[in-house]
Amino acid sequence: MLWHGGFPTLVLLGFGAHWLAQSRFIFRLKHARLLILLGLAGSVLGCIVAVRFGDALPMLIKDGSYSLLRHSPVAFYVVVVSVAALAAQLASGRLRTVLDLWLTIALLAFFADVTLTLAGSARFTLGWYGARVASVIASSALLAALLVEISMLYSRLARINEDLEQKANRDALTGLYNRGWFDMAYARECLVARHQEQPLSVLMVDVDHFKLFNDAYGHAAGDDCLRQVANALHGCLRRQGDAVSRYGGEEFVVLLPGCATASAISIAEAMRSAVRKLDIPAKTPAGRVTISLGVYTCEAGKSHSGDPLQCADANLYRAKAAGRDRVVAGRSAKGRGPGGIGQGALAQ
Ligand code: GH3
Ligand code: MG
Ligand code: MG
Repeated sequence: MLWHGGFPTLVLLGFGAHWLAQSRFIFRLKHARLLILLGLAGSVLGCIVAVRFGDALPMLIKDGSYSLLRHSPVAFYVVVVSVAALAAQLASGRLRTVLDLWLTIALLAFFADVTLTLAGSARFTLGWYGARVASVIASSALLAALLVEISMLYSRLARINEDLEQKANRDALTGLYNRGWFDMAYARECLVARHQEQPLSVLMVDVDHFKLFNDAYGHAAGDDCLRQVANALHGCLRRQGDAVSRYGGEEFVVLLPGCATASAISIAEAMRSAVRKLDIPAKTPAGRVTISLGVYTCEAGKSHSGDPLQCADANLYRAKAAGRDRVVAGRSAKGRGPGGIGQGALAQ
């Protein structure tokens, strides 16, 4: 009979825990352990009493009739706890969420169940069946509401996570991938290229004389210029795995997995002319904003001296030294400097 009171008792305990959490009392792990031990001890004791001393327990239902039950303390307890839980739920003023509304309905249904059971004179009467059906509907509805709420929370959490990941990987100014993302992607692509014997091209890009641009037009115009350059670079990507990231300041880095030297140089040239085509005026020898690019390709299956990123950076340095607004490709990191421009250098 006590199971009728179990659900409202748990709801009351829940309110108690909520009240404790709001008061100064700090609910510690030792309290939780003590409660669990008490619960377990009570259950074991109840089982022993029910099995060993069943005959000594008060008779509640005799020959299917409820007349004894109605006057027992058990019925009193179940009614009181059902009314108390319902009253606490209504008085809490927390009827704003779907779950709380369903909890109220479930408590109402439990109260109806108890009243019908006690009012019904015996088992298997219409009132008894009505009470059982009400119980099943109430608990199923509560469970369904709980599942719907949890699924909605999970999907919201997944959306927020996706959003956060997106924000964590993106550069706030240009919207391109940021340095953190690039570092991870670069390490991954180097491994993939080595294992799958695929070429990997890296382009280091730097805006020419950008300090002069900032000095002449101010940092806000500089920021706007960086955004336009970033868009132009992104617009030159051809394949799904290609990615351009902001490396830092006015420097960008492009990763082209599976891309051989000739294609990498042609993409680099496309980027250079795309930035020229923006035609952003600048007080530089070229009269407009230009970029220099260092290209390096790890060819498939060949062994390479040095890190591809450093080699691309060395080629960028050579492009700067040779007069800027150009693409330099092919050489490794060794022998930085103007004299290092070799067969891969493409003058404007
Ligand atoms: P070089 O052709 O040799 O690359 O010359 P540079 O002037 O571009 O190079 P330098 O490293 O001397 O200057 C880079 C400038 O880029 C300095 C800094 O103020 C500017 N810069 C870096 N990040 C930003 C940014 O986010 N916004 C703006 N507006 N300017 C930036
Ligand atoms: Mg720079
Ligand atoms: Mg620069």
